[in-house]
Amino acid sequence: LAEKLEVQSSELVKELMLKGIMANVNENIDFDTAVSLAEKYDILLEQQEEVDILEDFFKVEPSDEKDLRSRPPVVVVMGHVDHGKTSLLDAIRKTRVTEKEAGGITQHIGAYVAQVNDQKITFLDTPGHEAFTAMRMRGAQATDIAILVVAADDGVMPQTVEAINHAKAAGVEIIVAINKMDKPGANPDRVKQELVEYELICEDWGGETISVPVSAINGEGIDQLLEMIVLVSEMSELKADPKRDARGIIIEAQLDKGRGPVATVLVQSGTLRVGDPIVAGTSYGKVRAMMDDKGRRVKEAGPSKPVEILGLNEVPLAGDPFYKAKNDREARHVAEKVIEKGKVDLIKRSSTKVTLDDLFSQIQSGNVKDLNIVVKADVQGSVEAVKQSLQKLSNEEVVIKIIHGGVGAVTESDVLLASASNAIIIGFNVRPESSAKSVAERENIDIRLYRIIYNAIEDIEAAMKGMLDPIF
Ligand code: GDP
Repeated sequence: LAEKLEVQSSELVKELMLKGIMANVNENIDFDTAVSLAEKYDILLEQQEEVDILEDFFKVEPSDEKDLRSRPPVVVVMGHVDHGKTSLLDAIRKTRVTEKEAGGITQHIGAYVAQVNDQKITFLDTPGHEAFTAMRMRGAQATDIAILVVAADDGVMPQTVEAINHAKAAGVEIIVAINKMDKPGANPDRVKQELVEYELICEDWGGETISVPVSAINGEGIDQLLEMIVLVSEMSELKADPKRDARGIIIEAQLDKGRGPVATVLVQSGTLRVGDPIVAGTSYGKVRAMMDDKGRRVKEAGPSKPVEILGLNEVPLAGDPFYKAKNDREARHVAEKVIEKGKVDLIKRSSTKVTLDDLFSQIQSGNVKDLNIVVKADVQGSVEAVKQSLQKLSNEEVVIKIIHGGVGAVTESDVLLASASNAIIIGFNVRPESSAKSVAERENIDIRLYRIIYNAIEDIEAAMKGMLDPIF
C-alpha cells in the first residue's frame, strides 16, 4: 500500500498506530482501513474483483496429444447388497497383489493396484454406487469401468438396477461379473436374460456387454474378469499426460492421531511428488510423505496411481479435487479463497440445477438439451407407464431421458444420482425418505410428488412450454 501511495511504509505504520492498530510492514490490513489511510493522501481506493484467482488456478489447459501416455483403468465394483462386491475385491487383492509381495502386507488405503501380466488395474476399494455417485456429485469423475456384480443364484435385484443406471448416467463402461457360480442354485442364463431388460445384452446373447462367470469364494473366473478389464481399457485408449503438474481427486481421508490428516489421492494427470505444494478442497499443504497400497514409501505417483499422502493442514472430503500449486503461498492463498467463496466443488460443472419452474428458460437459453428424470413409484406398473408417457413428450428442443426408474420411496441415492446428472425426480404415491429430503434441499433438487400420472405429464408438458403454474 505504501508503494502505491508513494509514501514511506514507516509513515503508514505510524498512521495505523494513531488509529490504534499495531501493524508491522508485512501486516495485512482490511480494505476499509486501507481506504481511510489512502484518504489522507487524497487517493480513492477501489476494490478489485478477485474472481479470477480461482478461475485461473483451476483452469486446466488440455495437454498436447504427443504428451499423452496410456494409463491404467480405474475400476469400481457395484451391485446389490450381499451379491459379493467386497468378497470379489478381496479375492482380486489376494491373488494379484499380496502374493507377489514378499511377506506382503496390504494396506487398506481406499484403493489398490492389481497386476495382470504387464498391465495394471486400479481398483477403488469402496464398493457401491452410492459412494461412486456421491463423488460424481462433487464433480469428480474418477472411474473408467464399473464391474456389476450379480449373484447367479439371486439374479437382478433393485440395487442391481440402481447400479446399472448410476453407471450409465456417468457414462462408464460396464462389465458384468456373474458371481457365486460355485453355488448349486447358480443360473447365469437367468441373470443374462434379466439384464436384457436394462439394455445390457451379453455377448452370447448377441449383444456387446461383456459378462464373466466368477466365484469370489473359489477364485473361478477371476483371471478372465481381469483380462476383460484390460481388454476394455485397451479399447478405450485411456491416456494422461504424466509430465504436467499433478491433479486428481481425494478418494478418502481421515485424521490420524499420530500423523495428522491422512488422505488417499488418485492422481488423474501429471505426477505428484514428495514436496509438492497442493490444494485439496479447502485444505492445503506440502506433500510430506507418500505411501503406496503396499505401504511402501514412494517419491512420486503418476496417472491412475493411488497413494496415501501426509502433510495437509486439515482433512479434505472424499471427492474433493486436488491440484498442485506453484508454491506454498499459492496453495494457502487458493485454499483460503475457496473457503471464503464457499466454493468447494471446484471442478464441478455449472451448479445451476434444472427445475420444472425454470425448464423453459433453460431450454430457451440452450442450457438444457436433455431433461433427465428419475421416476419412483409404488408399483412397477406405474414406473413403466410413466416412463413411456414421459418419453413421448420429447421434441426437437429437448429430449426426455428417464435415467432411473424404480419401486419405493425416493432415497438419498436417487437424489445423489439426480444431482450428479442434473435431473428432476418424480414420485407417484411415494414420499422422499427424510435423508433424501435434506440432501435434495441442500443440492436444490426438484422433487415432484403426484397421485395421478396424468397430472405429471401435464406439468412436464406445461413446463416445456414455459406455461407451468407456479407453486406458492
Ligand atoms: P457385498 O454386500 O456385495 O459386499 O457382499 P459380500 O462380499 O459381503 O458377500 C456376501 C456374502 O456372500 C458373504 O457371506 C460371502 O461369503 C458370500 N459370497 C460372496 N461371493 C461368493 C461366492 O462367489 N460364492 C459363495 N458361495 N458365496 C459368496
